[in-house]
Amino acid sequence: MTERIECAVIGAGVVGLAVARTMAMAGREVIILEAADAIGTGGSSRNSEVIHAGIYYPTGSVKALTCVEGRHRLYEYCESHGVAHRNCQKLIVATDTDQLDTLEGIRRTAAENGVTDLTWIEQPALREMEPALRAVAALLSPSTGIIDSHGLMLAYQGDAEDAGAVIAFNTPVTRGTAAADGALHLETGGEQPMTLACDMVVNCGGLHAPDIANRIDGLPAEHVPAAYYAKGNYFTLSGKAPFSRLIYPVPEQAGLGVHLTLDMGGQARFGPDVEWIDEIDYEVDPRRGDVFYDAVRRYWPQLEDGALQPGYSGIRPKIQAPGEPARDFVISGPEDHGVAGLVNMFGIESPGLTSSLALADAVAGRLTDQ
Ligand SMILES: Cc1cc2nc3c(=O)[nH]c(=O)nc-3n(C[C@H](O)[C@H](O)[C@H](O)COP(=O)(O)OP(=O)(O)OC[C@H]3O[C@@H](n4cnc5c(N)ncnc54)[C@H](O)[C@@H]3O)c2cc1C
Repeated sequence: MTERIECAVIGAGVVGLAVARTMAMAGREVIILEAADAIGTGGSSRNSEVIHAGIYYPTGSVKALTCVEGRHRLYEYCESHGVAHRNCQKLIVATDTDQLDTLEGIRRTAAENGVTDLTWIEQPALREMEPALRAVAALLSPSTGIIDSHGLMLAYQGDAEDAGAVIAFNTPVTRGTAAADGALHLETGGEQPMTLACDMVVNCGGLHAPDIANRIDGLPAEHVPAAYYAKGNYFTLSGKAPFSRLIYPVPEQAGLGVHLTLDMGGQARFGPDVEWIDEIDYEVDPRRGDVFYDAVRRYWPQLEDGALQPGYSGIRPKIQAPGEPARDFVISGPEDHGVAGLVNMFGIESPGLTSSLALADAVAGRLTDQ
């Protein structure tokens, strides 16, 4: 039997839940279709849990715009909904004088993005702020923070459910069809397969979003990017965190460099690195620790041998091949691909957590006339 629904959101990660919340609170009838048996088992629980300021992204990009707006709204949301977070600040550090130009460039891009609160810190002020840090200069980002990402997702889920949304777990979307009646028909697997006729479908499938889109008959293939996976491995530090702020080296290709973040419990973790992989696999290879020691000792020389333990990993849903220029978030709506009611979210890597509320509004905007 085919059920009829106004809006189906595929995926209960932080972005899918934010979209479902926004759509449900706007009065839409919403179902969230999630392949796993719980919320947030994908990238949303395998990240650095950093509330990014919006510093690095190309000015005018969706990443820059949604990060800056999303960050303001996220802090407000955390305050009003009791989501654990801490505005702990971050330092972007130049460990050599030849990185000072890069640091200056970062400050310029940040200002163009509307992040005007960065301050340049020289020695000896830096040593007073973070005595264990080895750096020649740094940029302080006062608006960077950390967040309990699972607490955030629970809050989004609560808002969505209060507004009438329901979540179907163990319900993988297996294919879709843009039907002649104007609805999008979704087929699901799992123990209770069903077909849903939907006025609107938002594909927030994270790593699987391109694969899901490729299974929608009627969606032209040229509107679905190829999927690439860039794993980010983390190593945790045994013992007390040496810094009170997040410490980032200047960024590297495809990632932000092996940085130090803190979790809400105060534990320090280093990462993520960048490991391009062909298959989804979250195992952390302990041998990658060697590179971490070298990278971290550039800004924290006191790191002792044996202090790092393999932690966890997350996989960035890249839509560009290794070595190609970084791509922006893609929010592909009916005006792009021609299929009424369908929005695909591709390449929602960092700062997707920070951007989630702004991304949800952008999706709702694409579907206002449905
Ligand atoms: C290493 C790493 C570090 C990061 N650090 C940060 C950070 O510090 N700050 C920040 O702002 N952002 C960060 N991010 C980015 C952030 O984690 C992501 O942008 C965000 O979690 C994406 O959420 P999502 O809902 O789009 O995807 P996901 O969380 O991956 O959710 C996708 C969901 O879709 C489901 N699904 C897949 N296929 C199907 C199907 N066929 N049918 C039904 N359901 C399906 C999955 O089970 C999953 O639950 C980081 C990402 C990575 C990988």
